[in-house]
Amino acid sequence: MYTGMQENTRFEELKKGFIVRVVMIMEKFNLLEKCKDAKSIFISGHVRPDGDCVGSCLAMYMYLRKALPEAEVKVFLEEPSEVFRCIKGFDEIDSTFAVEGEADVFIALDCEKSRLGAAEEIFENARKRINVDHHVSNERGCGDINYIDHSISSTAELVYDLFDRQYMDAEIAKAVYIGIVHDTGIFRYSNTSPETLRIAAELIEYGFDFPEMIDETFCEKTYAQNQLLGRALLESIVFMNGKCIVSAIDKKTLDFYNATPKDLEGIVNQLRITKGVECAIFMYATGNLEYKVSLRSCKYVDVSKVAAFFGGGGHVRAAGCTINGTFYDVANNLSKQIELQMKEHEERN
Ligand code: 5GP
Ligand code: MN
Repeated sequence: MYTGMQENTRFEELKKGFIVRVVMIMEKFNLLEKCKDAKSIFISGHVRPDGDCVGSCLAMYMYLRKALPEAEVKVFLEEPSEVFRCIKGFDEIDSTFAVEGEADVFIALDCEKSRLGAAEEIFENARKRINVDHHVSNERGCGDINYIDHSISSTAELVYDLFDRQYMDAEIAKAVYIGIVHDTGIFRYSNTSPETLRIAAELIEYGFDFPEMIDETFCEKTYAQNQLLGRALLESIVFMNGKCIVSAIDKKTLDFYNATPKDLEGIVNQLRITKGVECAIFMYATGNLEYKVSLRSCKYVDVSKVAAFFGGGGHVRAAGCTINGTFYDVANNLSKQIELQMKEHEERN
């Protein structure tokens, strides 16, 4: 982890790619020092909160409540999946976003401000804004204080780095661990670093039932979720000589299973591991001629660039966006952008 560095910009020439990518590294800051005079501290993360978002927000919530007992600490999130009920503080999440007055400190986790949804306005009005994130699409951070590192597995890993160990306990450790587990696909994705594993080792020493937690929050599927996964796999289409795979769930199917987006998590990851596939696209209908798209890649396609082209963002190997059109329009438009990168890759090799 790049700690103790001056606030600076590091240019990193991506191997083989001749692409110059700017990686912003902000200096680690003293969280408790920055919050010590605050009477109210609000925490929030991105819309459609995932495991890293929920884990990071609740870890931060528990930590600040313990370290700064005088402050009013609140956590705002769109209703997370019930699987995260095993994290302490889950019931204290405010999904109404109803606040009176301004926050002294607002901590935006795992996103830039445009993805805060209903919390964006509260963030804008806060006296001091802190942004902690690892998304490559969040180039500079949107806070007065920013701790952004694109090379780190998860926001949970960054959040843990800010914690004074004297306030750590098993419940906080569990929340951080859930965040890391979800964003690394149980330590399988390429964003897992030796440091990620060292941190995971430290966390499980606090003592919580991590195998049960992984099963409950990551692996277990309801019957309907498995049916939806099955349908998505059955109806998937491979193209570009098997290097790309696409599948969709339409509105009718979502209604039939009474499903929400939370029931579709993991489908794109299953598509991605189809042998020979470099890039997987999964989409579901969010409105009339509107699709929420998830993109994943294995080795060389930068899906954050593909998503950014359509107004979305994310990471090099996992990104998302929303696109208007029919399924075929959306698939065609995405595949053009993916093909451009594939051609560039072929020319280089
Ligand atoms: P997922 O496909 O699991 O929804 O998202 C993959 C990654 O891309 C996550 O880190 C998520 O935060 C990010 N992401 C997904 N959709 C969007 C979007 O519409 N805009 C931005 N900026 N990021 C997104
Ligand atoms: Mn994340």
